[in-house]
Amino acid sequence: MMEDLSQQTAAHDVIPLPWAWSPRRRRNTVFPIFLPFRGCPVRCVFCAQEEQTGCRSSQTPIPTLLAIAREALQQHAAQRKMPTELAFYGGTFTAMPEDDLRACLNLATEALERGWINTFRCSTRPDSVNASMLKRLRTACCDTVELGIQSFSDSALAEARRGYDAACALQACADVLNAGLRLGVQLLPGMPGNTPEIFLEDVTQALEAGAQMLRFYPCLVLEGTQLAKLWRKGQYVPWTVNQTLDTLARGWLAANMARVPVIRMGLAPQAELESAILDGPVDPALGNRVMARGLLMAVRHTLSQHNAPETVSNFELFLPPAVQGCLWGHKGELRSAWSAMGLQKIHYWQQDFPAIRTFSARPSA
Ligand code: SF4
Repeated sequence: MMEDLSQQTAAHDVIPLPWAWSPRRRRNTVFPIFLPFRGCPVRCVFCAQEEQTGCRSSQTPIPTLLAIAREALQQHAAQRKMPTELAFYGGTFTAMPEDDLRACLNLATEALERGWINTFRCSTRPDSVNASMLKRLRTACCDTVELGIQSFSDSALAEARRGYDAACALQACADVLNAGLRLGVQLLPGMPGNTPEIFLEDVTQALEAGAQMLRFYPCLVLEGTQLAKLWRKGQYVPWTVNQTLDTLARGWLAANMARVPVIRMGLAPQAELESAILDGPVDPALGNRVMARGLLMAVRHTLSQHNAPETVSNFELFLPPAVQGCLWGHKGELRSAWSAMGLQKIHYWQQDFPAIRTFSARPSA
């Protein structure tokens, strides 16, 4: 396809960007079971799971929660919906009391055997996994373990009082992969002690550690947390929205170039969450704005690498259709930047990578 295009436009340079834009695959619907704070050895300074998930069930007995989930899964299957991925979120899954853990795994096994789901995943802390626990999960047909690592920086981990260090986080990544499980890594840009530079290094470390998917959750100040107290005393200042967008865009680009998807950016909107937010880079369009900036950065970088800026005054973009919804950013905030760079025309094509076609001079009108 690239050869065809080059032949049609032999007078111009056609430059593919060195990464693929993940197509919007038809993914399994995820059936989450939120287990707020279950198994958590500490209450992390930034964490307000019930507000974050909209699920006030930290006092509900696990058998009750699972019975409700079982009923819903059964109905889901009876309605012949797509096979669903079951996900245990919101706590430290692998550190729950044995009875609770066994009950969760039993539900997952039953749901798999009955065809209600086709896979399941869980999230946990890196200091709460070991080889035998991970083997147990794999034997129960768990597919993915997401590690809430937040940062690989020893200083940031200490400042956020996470209770483990980078070596522990890296070992946990290796253990998950060695157990034959898929590895997800969750990062918390802007958490206490974290800087944009540290976050970008965190992304690099997560990719080098073998992460197959990432989540970026910019740190928010939520009512009822230790962080809210620090914020009120002026001892914690969250990142601004702009700082977050630019930094996440760079992290997203790094992941994209490694062909690793960032499957979530920012917390899912919840009424409880909105009322609990005191400060921080909250933005309902965060993911699209980050990707839009990332593409702009990538094109700017690619143009500067391939052309002396003064010789390139115009270019066209060839984009996968999936880019269509976010190219201009929120309310067209990036239109002027694209225009100033010399963007003349956009073509949507059926490739999963963007490309640039440059002109050495502006075409006559
Ligand atoms: S961040 Fe994770 S480990 Fe810490 S309290 Fe929240 S759910 Fe528990």
